[in-house]
Amino acid sequence: MTLNSEVLNIRKLHRPKKEPLDKPAASWFGKDNIRGDIIDTLTIIFRTSGCYWGKQGGCTMCGYVYDSAFEIPTDEDILKQLDFAMSRADKKERIMVKIFTSGSFLDKSEISEYARNEILNRLYENEKVSYVLAETRPEFVTYEKALKCAEIMKDKPFEFAYGLETSNDFVRKNSINKGFSFEVFKRACKCAKKAGLYNKAYLLLKPPFLSEREAIEDMKKTIDDICEHNLAETVSMNLCNVQNKTFVEKMWERNEFRPPWLWSAVEILKYAKQKYPDLYIMSDPVGAGAKRGPRNCKECSFDVADMIRDFSITQDVKVLDRVNCDCKKTWEVVKSLDDFTFGSPIID
Ligand code: SF4
Ligand SMILES: [Zn+2]
Repeated sequence: MTLNSEVLNIRKLHRPKKEPLDKPAASWFGKDNIRGDIIDTLTIIFRTSGCYWGKQGGCTMCGYVYDSAFEIPTDEDILKQLDFAMSRADKKERIMVKIFTSGSFLDKSEISEYARNEILNRLYENEKVSYVLAETRPEFVTYEKALKCAEIMKDKPFEFAYGLETSNDFVRKNSINKGFSFEVFKRACKCAKKAGLYNKAYLLLKPPFLSEREAIEDMKKTIDDICEHNLAETVSMNLCNVQNKTFVEKMWERNEFRPPWLWSAVEILKYAKQKYPDLYIMSDPVGAGAKRGPRNCKECSFDVADMIRDFSITQDVKVLDRVNCDCKKTWEVVKSLDDFTFGSPIID
């Protein structure tokens, strides 16, 4: 029995739904701070054949794999998905477009080379698009592919985003089952930089089997490693939530997993911004306050989540002192005790 076989057993019980192939899985507007420029962002989740890694098991916390298409979309379908999502931006003057596939933009089994280049061409030609980001697993990045993207985007800033999760290979393998090493991530970042592109790292706070304290230490060390090697300009910290039909959900149902405390995120954001003022570090605490989401107590969870979102936009560390609550004392106790339970909740 391996971690991957456990994840795969869960995957096998579920099939992607029959959804139209010419509409994206989802698209929505948000706000982002792009290296100092605060801008509306349009996130598009393309419906593709899906993440190759997720199809053979994949990451312990990932429910995105169920967004994949029930049959392989054509290039025309993919481009219609783009047009459909972009039509939502008609009334916007200036946007950033974030491309996600619940997999890899650079994996040609998900998005062909033709469709990839055409997506970028259309976004380059569209004057209201100021920045573009595309998520990919790092093993798909080569200097040639990065250069091709840079050639199409010319002076329009373009960045690759990677779900690195942690710089610790042991944790990435044994808690997350991510299937690539820190070296592979480093190589991808270097190729992108050499081609004139930016890099963004998505990190995961509190994967399974880590205590609250270990998770905080893992995240701080990861940020140190990224900054010391000068790999990414932006870091986005995802606070592990419990997604449907995942290994993490199985653990959570058995009371073996609790999502992280929001105070842990606050501690890390303060640490990172004070130590690396030039790093853009952000977090959107998805599902904050809910049973399946990151949370403090009932009284402060929503306010602390809003505080984290405001910090993400302003990058002003003073914002992180705006909310306080008595439950901070409980969180301090949890940090000192749940090492003994390997992250299983000692208190809800
Ligand atoms: S987290 Fe990303 S790499 Fe992992 S299975 Fe999900 S889509 Fe694939
Ligand atoms: Zn509280």
